Amino acid sequence: MLTVFDGHNDTLTRDDADDFATGREGGHVDLPRARAGGLGGGIFAAFTDTPGDRWIEGEPAAPIGQDRAAGVVTRTLGRLLELERGGHVLLARGPGDLDTARERGTLAAVAHIEGAEAVDPGLLALDVLHAAGLRSLGPVWSRPNAFAHGVPFAYPSTPDIGPGLTPAGIRLVRRCAELGIAVDLSHLNEQGFWDVAKLGLAPLIASHSGAHALCPASRNLTDEQLDAIGSSGGLVGIVYAVHFVRPDGVEDADTPLEAIAAHVRHVADRIGVDHVALGSDFDGATIPDALGDVTGLPRLLDAIRATGFSEDEMERIAWGNWRRVLEAAWAT
Ligand code: ZN
Repeated sequence: MLTVFDGHNDTLTRDDADDFATGREGGHVDLPRARAGGLGGGIFAAFTDTPGDRWIEGEPAAPIGQDRAAGVVTRTLGRLLELERGGHVLLARGPGDLDTARERGTLAAVAHIEGAEAVDPGLLALDVLHAAGLRSLGPVWSRPNAFAHGVPFAYPSTPDIGPGLTPAGIRLVRRCAELGIAVDLSHLNEQGFWDVAKLGLAPLIASHSGAHALCPASRNLTDEQLDAIGSSGGLVGIVYAVHFVRPDGVEDADTPLEAIAAHVRHVADRIGVDHVALGSDFDGATIPDALGDVTGLPRLLDAIRATGFSEDEMERIAWGNWRRVLEAAWAT
């Protein structure tokens, strides 16, 4: 069975996250099911929702304050450290930890914040979070903050909505490169994406996105953005969220696994197999019923393989590409 490194889940921010090690009742990921599905590692997000959890199609969600985000980030990182103390996960602070976790059969966890609201514009909190194990950061979720402008959810729509990085956002991306924190572009609008690309500091990473050519949602990447990711040596983790993979953009769980596989194939054909990987959005989005939860990964891998990848290529899609790109992003 192929071992998978997954680019994005919201599992530890769910209400029943305390049951992660022993098994949750529902949802997509917990430790027993990760083992059963071949999930060997992943990026675990601290995501702070918008009060009321509402947004309007085509408009950014309302901003949130640092206090609200900091509480979520502290709890999520604390959970990861507790899981590490209990021997349930290995919190990956460097690329060697990913190898060690795989050798031991322990789940590797990379700590991520999805939206940097918990970080003050002076970036003092960034050093604290890095010291606590943070190794990945998305400057924005789909709302504006001190650093950048998240892309509003819209279909069909260009991702070119709104202005780019603020001066504080540019300082944030520079400081992440100095500290060895991967910068995730998945919820940035297109101008912000190009602002990060122009800095040229690290491989470009979109942890959980799809190809705009196949599903023209604002959250997906145009072919020009894919080209930039490829030439930077970065990657796209293909998202499983049905409304970002279905050509019609509809949130319908009756979606075949071939719809996800088609995005993997498109990115590989456009920029090369070394620049495509997986980024589920488990526990953060509606995924195909045909997948169900993390235990369905072998079925998804079969669907991807069926589009014409060799076993060596499958290994890179499942694990090797994330391993390589995170090592480059973490280099200081
Ligand atoms: Zn997301």
